Amino acid sequence: MENCIFCKIIAGEIPSKKVYEDDLCYAFYDIQPLAPQHFLVVPKAHIAAANEITEEHAALVGHIFAVIAELTKELGFADGFRVVTNCGEDAGQTVKHLHFHVLGGKPLGSFN
Ligand code: 5GP
Ligand code: ZN
Repeated sequence: MENCIFCKIIAGEIPSKKVYEDDLCYAFYDIQPLAPQHFLVVPKAHIAAANEITEEHAALVGHIFAVIAELTKELGFADGFRVVTNCGEDAGQTVKHLHFHVLGGKPLGSFN
């Protein structure tokens, strides 16, 4: 989608530090890491946010979580990590292309 930062990153028009890529998704390190390990996984298809996920995306979302499990193993922090997706302004979503933050590499503390 035009003027979408993450679509431009997927297309290679904006540089990024790639972690992983396949036909369905792209993973890259967050430019402002909030933990020793912090990467984002995005679908290649432009979906604006988690509130636009439908049953049609079930396989895609499942695939992304399988990729996350694999990548955290490869990067050595599969024992403890957090997956976060911010949806909408109240949640602080700043980029309107669905993305899953994967955070780890230190004790993250209680979420609630
Ligand atoms: P949100 O706040 O929407 O959940 O998360 C957006 C994330 O994207 C932020 O953590 C921010 O640091 C990251 N981000 C924004 N622009 C870029 C960029 O151009 N490159 C990379 N690697 N990360 C970005
Ligand atoms: Zn996009």
